[in-house]
Amino acid sequence: MEDKSPSGDTITFLGTAGARFVVTKQLLASGGLWLSLGGSEILVDPGPGCIVQSTKRKLKAEKLSAIILSHRHLDHSADTNIMVEAMTQGGFKQHGWLFAPADALESEPVIFSYLKDYLDGIEVLQEGKSYQIGNISFTTPIQHIHPVETYGMIFTIAEHTFSYIADSRYFDGLCHSYASELLIINVVLLEAMHHIDHLSLADAEHIIMELKPKVAILTHFGMGMWRAKPWEIAQRLSQETGVRVLAARDGMKFELSQLDNT
Ligand SMILES: [Zn+2]
Repeated sequence: MEDKSPSGDTITFLGTAGARFVVTKQLLASGGLWLSLGGSEILVDPGPGCIVQSTKRKLKAEKLSAIILSHRHLDHSADTNIMVEAMTQGGFKQHGWLFAPADALESEPVIFSYLKDYLDGIEVLQEGKSYQIGNISFTTPIQHIHPVETYGMIFTIAEHTFSYIADSRYFDGLCHSYASELLIINVVLLEAMHHIDHLSLADAEHIIMELKPKVAILTHFGMGMWRAKPWEIAQRLSQETGVRVLAARDGMKFELSQLDNT
């Protein structure tokens, strides 16, 4: 079959760990998403171990054009400083952008001030705004319900769109905001817990049913989700929703050309 993405657009899951203990004990790796799109490299949510996971997979930080943080929580931002250092080769090659919500940059910034000078610049994420990185654009359609300022993203490249629903409590706005061909969802909770602002499996299923993407990928697993075997859950969701649902694995590389065959 003709490959409609000759540039080899890929999303690599550097880690799939979500909640505190899965991250702190590294039961699963953490480190975020590495996007290789239309010849540009973009890093999303560099959690703890990003530098380890990315170098292990021979992903070259100096080729990054941008680092995007959905929010300031440690499991999404812990390796921001070292990844800026790596992207800019210790500041010798000034380039690249950091995108983050205002509260990740203000009173207690996630980035050291001396590293800011290594960047081309910092852009503040805001609800409903669009941003450009080379020939890729992304939007942050809606602010999430989470203890700190948080946004998901919809990326648009020449032939494809995909959404990343970062941490949030469920609200209907998620179903109205993230329509795309590929949906990546952070599903921390197996069962909903009212005092925790994270999506549960039932929430994820509802969102998939509403948005009907070509493919949905579950990631960012808490302990309960991990024990329940996400790959089995994904199989069940595929049957129940009619959407091809995958469970991310540490190091999994998803080729966007797969969307052409679905
Ligand atoms: Zn969070």
